[in-house]
Amino acid sequence: MAASFMDTAHISVRAGDGGNGSVSFHREKYVAAGGPDGGDGGNGGNIILQVDDNMSTLMDFRYKRKYVAGSGVDGQGCRKSGKDGQSLTIRVPRGTLVRDAETNEIIKDMSDDKPFVLCRGGKGGWGNQHFATPTRQVPRFAKAGLPGEGHDVILELKLLADVGLVGFPNVGKSTLLSVVSKAHPKIANYHFTTLYPNLGVVYVEDGVSFVMADIPGIIEGASEGAGLGHDFLRHIDRCRLLVHVVDVSGSEGRDPVVDFDAINQELKQYSPALATRPQIVVGNKTDILTDPALLDALKNHVEALGYPFLTLSAAAHTGTRELVKKIAEKLSTLPPVAVYEPEYVARPPEIDTTEPLQIHQEDHTWLVEGPWLQRLMSNINFSDYESRMYFDKMLRQSGLFDQLEAKGIEDGDTVSLYNLEFEYQR
Ligand code: GDP
Ligand code: MG
Repeated sequence: MAASFMDTAHISVRAGDGGNGSVSFHREKYVAAGGPDGGDGGNGGNIILQVDDNMSTLMDFRYKRKYVAGSGVDGQGCRKSGKDGQSLTIRVPRGTLVRDAETNEIIKDMSDDKPFVLCRGGKGGWGNQHFATPTRQVPRFAKAGLPGEGHDVILELKLLADVGLVGFPNVGKSTLLSVVSKAHPKIANYHFTTLYPNLGVVYVEDGVSFVMADIPGIIEGASEGAGLGHDFLRHIDRCRLLVHVVDVSGSEGRDPVVDFDAINQELKQYSPALATRPQIVVGNKTDILTDPALLDALKNHVEALGYPFLTLSAAAHTGTRELVKKIAEKLSTLPPVAVYEPEYVARPPEIDTTEPLQIHQEDHTWLVEGPWLQRLMSNINFSDYESRMYFDKMLRQSGLFDQLEAKGIEDGDTVSLYNLEFEYQR
């Protein structure tokens, strides 16, 4: 049963490759030698993440693990550029953490509505129309497109809610949420009915509202991974306030004080931070109270520990209004929901520079190509100084400049590497 709920997912994403530039020359009847008119390759599409509030689980990612954006189309003659590849937008529930699969570092906390570009498409290669200069009028070359970025990431859902409901299964958490908000969680007199977290917006008064999350019931031993519960605790990790629901009716023969302590023990074992999160305790099902002593015992126990205590009947709608007011009051004194800062820093890929590069000379232009160079260049951010230095180091390490020297390159010649050209200076 627990497996039917997904709160983490491992996916592979890849942006589209850039299309290749074209080598072509203008042809017209009676015109002997036209100029170069090869069009550019289109850019590859990006992989974009976007929050979707209609989603509350990562279930969609269970069967689909690979996501690939469209590649750019190759350029053609007559200066015809290839079409850009289609970007792919992946929708995720609000509060999804995106982590690097290798290091587990946070890349992004998908908490706001801004689209996030996770992988950039490869740039399209230039067609030969760009390479005509007074000294090279017949450029018989164009550039290959660069590959799109790829990434293996872990998605982890940590719902973004102000208030998290905690308590044993069947104590009335889902009922409470349905009464105070417009959410329609599954309610049944059956343990573990809640398999998915439910979010509801609770309106307090004009302009004041909060988000309440109902997560599947915690069971004893859950924090040690003994079944349902442990996984779900991550959802309330960043709730500002916990509402701890206890069944005080005695109808199931349970002892409310023992239940209350057991849940708090679970929270503590999962995370000390969660155990010290502000808590409001509510004794529910007062409409079918069998033994008022149970209620009194819980009240005394809870208040001695310093928690505010309220009673209610979620089913009969008594006491719910007071609870909502109490929650709003408490929330107004608490800091906003935590947003996680990114930790991940893109590292240059590991590249073996010993594989030989192809060098091709056209007049004073030296075209250099090779798989590792292509891969390296698609991963280098040329507007960043350190990345440029790294790139320079790799080129030197590969022995490229020595090879060019051996082939007779002269000062002032052009070195042409995919989407980069520079003048050679010894
Ligand atoms: P959850 O597992 O904590 O989400 O509990 P549910 O909200 O699904 O409720 C479990 C059962 O208790 C359902 O049959 C509800 O109708 C019932 N219930 C919830 N609140 C009350 C209440 O205040 N009084 C009574 N008599 N029954 C309640
Ligand atoms: Mg429930």
